[in-house]
Amino acid sequence: MTIARAVGTFTYPARFQLVASMNPCPCGYRGVRNAECRCDDAAVAKYVGKLSGPLLDRIDLQVQIARVPFDDMVRREGAERSQTIRERVVAAREFARERFVGTPIKANAEIPPSAMRTYCALDDAAMKLLAVASAKRQFSARALDRIARVARTIADLAGSSTIRAEHVAEAVQYRSLERLDGRAA
Ligand SMILES: [Zn+2]
Repeated sequence: MTIARAVGTFTYPARFQLVASMNPCPCGYRGVRNAECRCDDAAVAKYVGKLSGPLLDRIDLQVQIARVPFDDMVRREGAERSQTIRERVVAAREFARERFVGTPIKANAEIPPSAMRTYCALDDAAMKLLAVASAKRQFSARALDRIARVARTIADLAGSSTIRAEHVAEAVQYRSLERLDGRAA
């Protein structure tokens, strides 16, 4: 992070994870069961369009979440425990670390663009799937790069050293906002 002031310019180290949320439309009821959204398509497009393409491009996981019914919110059983999820994440990061032995890279997010081919190579079927998705959705070069990284992480979670079509398919699904506003529909 660089801050410029009269006395000088200072650069501080900054690593952060951006987590953001937004409503699906101005009234907030679009796609909600048993509720009526009063926004027309143009209003929704204008609302979602406030998120600029270049900013959206840099958000790896874009997921639409349905409103949680009250009964599900208060029910305790059936939910996966955080501890179990944590174990899965730790195992995936351990799996990834072995790939980076002897390099300063610690996680997939730190893979430099120049090393993408080395660490995020897709198998033939995965490459074909990404080509089809890209032709349909007009992904930018940056988005493709990010999809490959996310697919690498999904493969790590599955304990797979190769990135397969199913991993790419899941990663592409996590870019749902780009479909929402019609920019890349
Ligand atoms: Zn609405």
